[in-house]
Amino acid sequence: MNQQISPSTLGHFLTTPFGALLPATPSPLATAQIAQQLRAALMNLHPLTGPDFSALHSGPVAMPIELNDVRECAPNVVVLPAPPWSAAEPRLWVRPEVGERLRRAAHALPSNLKIGFWEGFRPLVTQQALWNIGLVLLPILQPGLRRDELEWVLESCVARPNATAEHSTGYALDIAVLDESHQVLDPRDARGQLAHRIFSRALTRAGLINYAAEWWHWSYPPAPDTYAAPISA
Ligand SMILES: [Zn+2]
Repeated sequence: MNQQISPSTLGHFLTTPFGALLPATPSPLATAQIAQQLRAALMNLHPLTGPDFSALHSGPVAMPIELNDVRECAPNVVVLPAPPWSAAEPRLWVRPEVGERLRRAAHALPSNLKIGFWEGFRPLVTQQALWNIGLVLLPILQPGLRRDELEWVLESCVARPNATAEHSTGYALDIAVLDESHQVLDPRDARGQLAHRIFSRALTRAGLINYAAEWWHWSYPPAPDTYAAPISA
């Protein structure tokens, strides 16, 4: 008799014998450290010696109707310099419901703290470029990683360029808390810790959710069954 594998049988195999063969998921602390290293490496990519992202930003693009410009929907937020991979305009676009929450959170902060904004919308082609460069950078940053662990670990820091990539659906924000002179406060040092707690509380109260491994990454994800596809721009 031809034995069929039902979804439940398959699920069993995926979580037991096959699952045991998969590399161990990094601990939350290790993931946060790797994400921080990778972010720093990506942010410091030199425009001349680093990868050339200019082909991704070859011309002006119209803002998709699903998105708003953060400078209009959250004018109380400070726009920070663009990360090396970002196009000048599209990174300022967010879903209206995300922008509204960001505006509310910024409004709730004491006057000596501001929200700094790096990036909202990230076209899928840019997400793909980040994924590709992550595959090159990660073995340099983490020389002990086995080949079969690479994508597994990278996925905890850079979303796969697919339908659920939060930046490419307009639901994610990379943001930071700033002092009065608009300097980014690092939550890992003593000066930034308190400010970051106040910032996090305001964002959480406004309905935004932080990705624990990345202090800068916040989102307002829709219900899974209404998940939007990446927006083309
Ligand atoms: Zn992000």
